[in-house]
Amino acid sequence: MSPILQVALDTPLHQAFDYRLPEGLGTVQPGSLVEVPFGRARQVGVVLNLHSDSAVHAHRLRDVIRVLDDRPALSADTLRLAQFCADYYHYPLGAVLLATLPPRLKNAAPFAADTPWLVATEAGRTAEPPARAKAQRALLDALRTAPQRRDSLRAQKQGRHANALVAAGWAAWASRPPDFGTADHPAPASLREATTNSPPATSEQQAALDALLPALGRFAVHLIHGVTGSGKTELYLRLIDAVLADGKQALVLIPEIALTPQLEQHFRRRFPGRRVNTLHSGLGEKDRTENWLGAPDCDVLLGTRLSVFAPLPRLGLVVVDEEHDASFKQQDGLRYSARDVAIARGKQANVPVVLGSATPSLESYAQALSGRYRLIALTQRAIRQARLPDIELVDLKHIPLDNGLTRPALTALAETLARDEQSLVFLNRRGYAPALYCPSCAWVSPCPRCSARLVLHRTSHRLKCHHCGFETRIPPECPSCGNPDLKALGQGTQRLEETLAALLPTARIRRIDRDTMRPRAWAELGEAVHGGEVDILVGTQMLAKGHDFPNMTLALILDTDGALYSPDFRATERLFAQLMQVAGRAGRADKPGRVLIQTAFPDHPLFRYLQRHDYPGYARDLLAERKQLELPPFTRQVLLRAEAVTMDAALAFLHRAAALAPDSAEVSVFGATPAPMARVANLERAQLLIQSAQRLALQAFVRDWRPQLDTIRPRIARWSLDVDPLVF
Ligand code: ADP
Ligand code: ZN
Ligand code: ZN
Repeated sequence: MSPILQVALDTPLHQAFDYRLPEGLGTVQPGSLVEVPFGRARQVGVVLNLHSDSAVHAHRLRDVIRVLDDRPALSADTLRLAQFCADYYHYPLGAVLLATLPPRLKNAAPFAADTPWLVATEAGRTAEPPARAKAQRALLDALRTAPQRRDSLRAQKQGRHANALVAAGWAAWASRPPDFGTADHPAPASLREATTNSPPATSEQQAALDALLPALGRFAVHLIHGVTGSGKTELYLRLIDAVLADGKQALVLIPEIALTPQLEQHFRRRFPGRRVNTLHSGLGEKDRTENWLGAPDCDVLLGTRLSVFAPLPRLGLVVVDEEHDASFKQQDGLRYSARDVAIARGKQANVPVVLGSATPSLESYAQALSGRYRLIALTQRAIRQARLPDIELVDLKHIPLDNGLTRPALTALAETLARDEQSLVFLNRRGYAPALYCPSCAWVSPCPRCSARLVLHRTSHRLKCHHCGFETRIPPECPSCGNPDLKALGQGTQRLEETLAALLPTARIRRIDRDTMRPRAWAELGEAVHGGEVDILVGTQMLAKGHDFPNMTLALILDTDGALYSPDFRATERLFAQLMQVAGRAGRADKPGRVLIQTAFPDHPLFRYLQRHDYPGYARDLLAERKQLELPPFTRQVLLRAEAVTMDAALAFLHRAAALAPDSAEVSVFGATPAPMARVANLERAQLLIQSAQRLALQAFVRDWRPQLDTIRPRIARWSLDVDPLVF
């Protein structure tokens, strides 16, 4: 009898599929990847189980086409974590599993990991090839000192000898050379010293270490609330030191934008001889696959949200830096929060999870206040002289704007320039201007596919939609009335750069936003700023993150008022975090920093707390408000999103969905409404909010409800469930 495999496939169906494993295809185990027929196509799937029989009729059972034994099987840990995600996010297990794999591994095309390195094996280290095989002996000797690359061996016409050594078991092809510092390759003493070559811990860091080091080795969540510059990174590094000394691995999750080559370098320098792997969207498919395949052997995996699923059999610590950052939440497909999955993973592996932020999410902070997470506070900057900056407000009700700037703001820039210090100007709107405007008929550059304005990008002479990617040339005249005199409406970073250049002609200005930053540009920018080649940095929130520029003493914040009275209940939480972060860029070394914020609402409580650098105070205020309004984190939410060609169809789907909702005293189902961005890329979007104070009740509710949604007719273009939604 050939065994029956239960296979998870990337389909919207919440079920696994049975296949027969014909003889001679190789061995499989749970976690193996296989290629199977599905409908008229073929798919790669993951084996969940092996059975001796199936409920499917024998003549309807289909055969596995191929066992993809050219790649490792997923581990039991990975399967377990995927199962958690499938349950928690109400997403099909097969789709979860395939969503977590790097693209090249889930492609059935024969896959060969690149193995460009020839290394001596354990046996090869002591073996004595026959004396007459001179060339082999010489090559093996060389390998004992250092691995050799295939291309250089070929160039030296050593290919035949290499193959002979491999056949004898004395050498093997590897995807990368073993680094120093593993058990069989101890790092030279000179390198080891470097790992301890870090400044003595501050007293707050020491207190944190005293709490954290004894807690290694078992699951618990620790929330480090540390003001910017308080030395959180240094603290993670010391914890990682301890974990590595124990022969374990550390997983460090960082926000999408923060993964700069500098951070990677910092980790590599700090752990010389250790294997530091990275995983992020900036890597090509090939590197991503290699680093994934190499994850089981690495010491530290530094990566963005997708790395939370990487195979790490010796996991000893999970760190989530900037844990409040919205980029940890995936906004399509499997809409997971990498922070929350990291906590689930820590729990499953029984290892500690350390969350760090200067402005923790209210979700995490509430857990810490209630004692479920352990709160560790770093209230002082690590470098003694570095004081927190003074924050001043420029009241736009009394002080006029000229091209988006006030007189006091301009004066502060000029003064900073005169002192040969650097400034940062923060405007969270890229492009030249948020819209193009016709003064005669009030046409305001609508996107033909979205309920949004096309943004004016003057350098590329185009109008672009930041939501659907639509773009077009700047029209020579108003498309609606023919008026040739179109005006730029409002300020974007490009226009701000232009204004500043005109007003401060001697200043060297650099702009940072998604339009200017290519992956490698960060390193170059960092050098330029450190080298004093830049006087003013203009940019979006991209520039708020992760950089440490000692000569930056002024931060200017323009136009944040939209968020103060936004319908999005998280807008003020997010704005506060952003402003704290930008403010944290000013005055990091020995020079005092200054922050100027232009606002028409200087009396808003957010600014009062910001001026006192009082995150805990503002967090308590916001939490009190959330509690009163029964909003997260005091309730849990699930959003049912619907997209259809017409708004009527989208709403009809949601009305039907609401009618099918199970009865539950603990769960509230709100009315269906058009989404705040009602139209994107020619689809109308509507949503239905479900909310409960009881997490488990909500889970059970959705578990019963979801299968009903599949039965709704007529079908619409797309619907999805978003558990713990961040964006509405
Ligand atoms: P955070 O991540 O909290 O913003 P960092 O870890 O980046 O802070 O540290 C901020 C600055 O303080 C860095 O320049 C870092 O080198 C320095 N620093 C951190 N810990 C110490 C320490 N114990 N003694 C001296 N300098 C420190
Ligand atoms: Zn017009
Ligand atoms: Zn659009």
